[in-house]
Amino acid sequence: MKQAHRAKLLALRRGLRKRCPHCGEGRLFHGWSHLDRCSSCGLEFERNPGDTWAFTIIGDRLPIAAIIALIYFGVVRSHRVLGLAMLAVFAVLLVWTAPNRWGAGIALHYLSRVLWPDPLDPIPPTCEKDGR
Ligand SMILES: [Zn+2]
Repeated sequence: MKQAHRAKLLALRRGLRKRCPHCGEGRLFHGWSHLDRCSSCGLEFERNPGDTWAFTIIGDRLPIAAIIALIYFGVVRSHRVLGLAMLAVFAVLLVWTAPNRWGAGIALHYLSRVLWPDPLDPIPPTCEKDGR
């Protein structure tokens, strides 16, 4: 049980680091472009177009929700310099962390494929070096 929990956290951490959630070796992105499959283990990251949509939308909406909350609660109006500085910080974080959040979305999609396996889903054999 603890081993399975650790494996899920490892896959999520790999996704956040923009690496393949299955082997941790291959890159998820080339620049800002999403790759189709892992160059190391061959895992197809998104089996069907839009499979990771829900996970990435949720990851993208959290920083946007923080920006909307700043505006809604009047932080920008009542403390102009502080509010604008916070808006700028959130905007930079929104762009800067986008690939990491998208990687986490790909990892969450991968975990859903592992938890509810489909016989037609081509997940590569487990990696020997980390016991998965
Ligand atoms: Zn891989």
